[in-house]
Parts: sequence; structure tokens; C-alpha cells
Amino acid sequence: MIRPHGGTLIDCTVTAAARAEVERLADEAPRLPVDRFTAMDALNIAIGAYSPLRGFMAEADYLSVIRQSALAAGSTWTVPVLLHVPAGMATKLRPDGRLTLVDSEAQPFALVQVESVFEVAKREYAKLVFGTADQSHPGVDRLTSLPSTCVGGALTLLREPELENRQYFIRPSETRKLFAEREWKSVAAFHTRNVPDRAHEYLQKLALESADGLFVHPIVGWKKAGDFSQRAQFETYEALFEHYYPRDRVLLGGFYCQVRYAGPREAVFHAIVRQNFGCSHIIIGRDHAGVGRFYGVYDAHRAFDAVSDLEIVPLRFAGPFYCRRCGGIVTDRTCPHGGDDVSEISGTLVRKHVVNREAVPEYLLRPEVFDVLERLATEEAFVR
Ligand SMILES: [Zn+2]
Repeated sequence: MIRPHGGTLIDCTVTAAARAEVERLADEAPRLPVDRFTAMDALNIAIGAYSPLRGFMAEADYLSVIRQSALAAGSTWTVPVLLHVPAGMATKLRPDGRLTLVDSEAQPFALVQVESVFEVAKREYAKLVFGTADQSHPGVDRLTSLPSTCVGGALTLLREPELENRQYFIRPSETRKLFAEREWKSVAAFHTRNVPDRAHEYLQKLALESADGLFVHPIVGWKKAGDFSQRAQFETYEALFEHYYPRDRVLLGGFYCQVRYAGPREAVFHAIVRQNFGCSHIIIGRDHAGVGRFYGVYDAHRAFDAVSDLEIVPLRFAGPFYCRRCGGIVTDRTCPHGGDDVSEISGTLVRKHVVNREAVPEYLLRPEVFDVLERLATEEAFVR
């Protein structure tokens, strides 16, 4: 099976033998309440989804990542994974001290060994990571709202933070075991923040023609208002799998993580994470992880050209559309037609139909998927 990025699957969950001591240290350390985004990052570090990271980034890694798209030790890494702390908190911390992360119920869930306290220049961060400092970019907007002081250091997870639809939470160690049990030698990962339309289905089945298995791993953390809800994502995929996929060749799990909207850089990050989950391939579609018109439609494909130390293979697929003349879903690599013969397939179009409760053409969405969205009703299908 494919090796984790950096060679070792990281596990920072507390061991039974160390629990009493770590809990005592967590009781004594200053407490930092964190939002769900940060809690999800802590969880992903702990379960090895972000291997080789063992904690939130120290300054050397942060600067190397934004400027060179690599960790200070050299492995490719493209997006910052930071623990932002209020300036007042930073003055209480010693470089060799500890910090306890607490969730929204004030329950401690992780202990950070403080190795680095530093300031982030937000403009440089935004320009290098998002390619823009434009405030209308949702990633830039979120960055602006965060404190500029950060703490880096190894973490130990004491317990899992609260997760919605917990039954879909799956660890890299578990997917690796499942893939082995199912004798999947090659596994294609599909990352999405949408419900499945026919273009997604086309790409997934294209990958399944050569891969042994398909791992659909929708990102289900924080998203901008108007995006599809977590429940809508899981329930539509269950309906799609039930009616249109061989059940023994697909797996559905939630990637509990915030959407960063970092386009090409985030595409590479998504690939690293899926390699850690044991996938040999990842589907990279049109404008992967993009938002608005901030990135070129195939920038995410090109982002992999500069990467040489990833073992996972990006499947750079063109954006499918529906062609009446060809009588099916096609791409501009397989169909010569245009104009009135072809119809776009996009999440934006699907959303519009669902919001307006209009009948959706079958070339856009499977009726069983639309039924789920209708049943959930507009207010539950979308993030508000
Ligand atoms: Zn055609």
C-alpha cells in the first residue's frame, strides 16, 4: 500500500499509559478555547491525516510553507496549519511551556507543547497562499478576522472533539485497513464540497474503470453560507451509491476539515491528505478547491507539476458537460460540439434548481439525489 507522506503515519492520540500524566499537565496549563476549524485541524494532526505534521506549525515551517510550498525539513506542504491565539494569551506562554485547547463546552481536548510563538504578516500570507489580498475572497476574509499571533508545537489529543454525523468519521489507519481487507490495490480519492451531479459521477466512474476502489471523501467542516450542508452531502451520496454504484467498490467517509478556498495550493494539500488515507490516486477536476473567479480553471492541475515527492497520482480531468449530439456526458477532450448542442453541469446550476424547487434535468442530477435534497428542504440542504 502507498506510504504516508513523509513515510510514517503520525498518531498523536494519547496512549493509555500516558493519559493520567497528560491530563494532569493539561489541568495546569493555560487554556485556549478554539473554534471548530482549529479543533478539526488538531484532530487531523492527531489521527495522521496531516502526516508528517505532529502539531501546529512553528514559525520556520510556516514561512517555508508559504514561501517554498515545503516544510522546513523539505517535504512538500502547501497550506499553513496554524494555531492563532489572542495577543494577551501569548504573553502568558513560555517557549517551553504548554497550552491546553478546550472546545466550545470548555472541555480540554488537546495539549500543545509550545515550541514557537510568532507573528503572521497577514498580507504576505494572503498573497502567497490565496494569490490575492482581496477581502471578498472567503479565505482572506477569515484570515483577517483571526489574531496574528500564532503558537506552534507538537500536540497530544486527549479526546475527539464533537463531530456531526460521527458515523462518517474515519481515520487514515481505518481506511488503510479497509482498503487492504477489500484487496483494493489502487484507490481513487474524490474530494468534494458539493452534492453529486452527473459530472462528478462521470469522473468517479472514469476513475473506477482503472482503480480497484473509489473513496468519496467530502469535506464537511466550516464552509461559506450557501454551500451544501453536511447532511445533504452524506444523504445524497448514500442515495447515489444505492442506485448507481457497485457497493463493494466504493467507500464514503467525511473529511472533517475547514475549507480553505486556497485553490491550487489546497489541491496539493488535498492530495497529501488522501495519500495519508491510503489512496493511490486523486481526482483533480476543473477549478479544484477554487472560489469565485480567483483561480484559472486548470491552475490546480498545473500545481502538481512542481511537486516531486508525492506518491499519490493526480488524475487531472477536464470539466465534463452534457452534449445532446453525443448523447451523454463528455469533455472537450472527447466531444467536438458546442453551442446549443451542449449544456453546462455545475454545482451553481444544481443549487439554483434546488433553491427554486424546479425540476432538474436528468443529465444534471439523478432523480434520487434530487429527491433527497427536496426532502431535506432548502433550509437543511444549505449552510446558513
Ligand atoms: Zn458532442
